[in-house]
Amino acid sequence: MGHSKEIPRTVVLTGGIGSGKSSVARLLREWGAHVVDADVLAREVVLPGSAGLAAVVAEFGAGILSPDGSLDRAALAERVFVDPDQLGRLEEIIHPLVHEAAAEQVGAGRGAALVVYEVPLPGSSPFGDQPVVVVVDAPDEVRRERLLRRGLGEPQIVARLASQPTREQWLALADQVLDNGGSEGELTAHVAELWRELTGEDPPVGAGG
Ligand code: ADP
Repeated sequence: MGHSKEIPRTVVLTGGIGSGKSSVARLLREWGAHVVDADVLAREVVLPGSAGLAAVVAEFGAGILSPDGSLDRAALAERVFVDPDQLGRLEEIIHPLVHEAAAEQVGAGRGAALVVYEVPLPGSSPFGDQPVVVVVDAPDEVRRERLLRRGLGEPQIVARLASQPTREQWLALADQVLDNGGSEGELTAHVAELWRELTGEDPPVGAGG
């Protein structure tokens, strides 16, 4: 007996860089979840001509712009990922804009089996109700190896891991932990289990559940 499809369960999907968050979101989307990606929204709110970009330039200077007037994300990342103060100032500008956009897009998910808000860090929630916080988890060493394979350099990996919560801090945030310390097949099985729990239904046939 499934949950009502009128008001789908809302899930905040999060986890450290390299934990496998995007892989989980891709699966859920394939299975019919309405996935809202905070990273995408964070890029949209600083597009050329936006109030968001104007605010970022006012804070960090025109040095974080590319010659074509768009945000030079690499230049900005280089500054904020090594300086928690500057990261905090950037987040104060971006987060409210992202929350506003997220609330709108999440509302468009009515009728989906599940609504998922994929977010790199669980700050305050843009939802009125209490969503289920799902944390994708893998040991630090496994995350490092994945990021190396994805082409990130050792210094960037060290800096980014250091700018994030520790594994223990991540786990403390979780209502549900999705273990991704194993193979991709094992991950699919765990996600299928979560799907059943949250929707009361099996994932679509052929989904590996
Ligand atoms: P995140 O979005 O949390 O940074 P991704 O989903 O992008 O993580 O995963 C990081 C990298 O690790 C990707 O290249 C992905 O294909 C790979 N990956 C994810 N889960 C597994 C797994 N269980 N086994 C092997 N590689 C994985």
